[in-house]
Amino acid sequence: MKKALITGYRGQDGAYLSRLLLEKGYEVYGADRAGDSGQWRLRELGIEGQVKEIALDLLETSNIIDALEKVKPDEIYNFAAQSFVLISFAQPVLTAEVNAVGVARLLEAMRKAAPKAKFFQASTAELFGSTGSAQKNETTDFHPRSPYAVSKLYAHWLTVNYRQAQGVYACNGILFNHESPLRGEEFVTRKITTSVARIKKGLQDKVTVGNLDAKRDWGYAKEYVDGMWRMLQQPTADDYILATGEVHSVREFIRTAFAAAGIRLEWKGKGLNEKGVDAKTGKVRLEISKEFYRPADVKELVGDASKARKVLGWKPKTKFGDLAAIMVDAELRRLEGRKVKL
Ligand code: NAP
Repeated sequence: MKKALITGYRGQDGAYLSRLLLEKGYEVYGADRAGDSGQWRLRELGIEGQVKEIALDLLETSNIIDALEKVKPDEIYNFAAQSFVLISFAQPVLTAEVNAVGVARLLEAMRKAAPKAKFFQASTAELFGSTGSAQKNETTDFHPRSPYAVSKLYAHWLTVNYRQAQGVYACNGILFNHESPLRGEEFVTRKITTSVARIKKGLQDKVTVGNLDAKRDWGYAKEYVDGMWRMLQQPTADDYILATGEVHSVREFIRTAFAAAGIRLEWKGKGLNEKGVDAKTGKVRLEISKEFYRPADVKELVGDASKARKVLGWKPKTKFGDLAAIMVDAELRRLEGRKVKL
């Protein structure tokens, strides 16, 4: 039986990967900060109590070493992060401590306590930042545009360096946005889908968001964790992009999510005064606030995952429109006390 250690296992990806690895017969160790934030994800997936829990904070070296000595994992998946880009502008030091130095702590602990383990680092499309609108692949240069992306860039190169200099089996998954009903509520897609469901049920009037015209490549998290697992099953370690290759704006996501709840949204006004209005009732359902704009945003990110398709046999299946509909359906189910499809 293989042993896997997943840091940040109560986050979106950690929860989905925990389920996938349990289904594959792994002994799964979940490492996360103390507290029960994110426990709801394991509950909804029906795997609560099946993951062996380890309290671990990436800010503290000794508890990382203890965890690796105790578990001696075959595979380590590092998802633990301050993962919200907007917050990283307000908390750049904490973001760097967790996302950058935390990975140095983890890799160094692994080199000493579990040198044969295979390591996966959750790298990000945000590394590409302002490198234009062309599809990104594994050879595209990086130009990060947020403290989050800068911290992840350090972790990305450190992972490459441990592979090249220390002979460690270490891979970066350069992950484009991936969403699901298990996404944290602070992220724009989930914020929109929870609001749409609440508006539909008459529990909320409207939702306020930031930049409508940011364009992203959005996939389904459940499928992305399968790609991450595939990376660690290869004979040699390497870096791979996971993406759908399709680009859509936040505006399109909003329109599609409202449509999934039977509400046709029309746009009125311009700039910060632009509003999303219910075409049938004339009620304002969406407003814009500067508060949700990033100080420096990334206009457009779209990925070319042909290497992952060719080497790993990985291909995303869920289309953009279906993803928005899955997320809205999940919120409506939660409000109605029905089981969520995950
Ligand atoms: P997530 O839901 O925010 O999960 C992150 C997890 O890390 C949470 O369980 C969080 O615990 C934990 N964590 C935070 N600080 C920690 C610390 N100091 N020590 C230990 N654990 C800590 O993120 P996700 O969406 O699953 O993403 C997984 C990884 O992929 C992240 O590294 C993220 O940056 C990266 N990524 C995600 C996407 C995406 O679209 N989802 C795209 C590119 C890259 P708390 O709940 O206690 O904060």
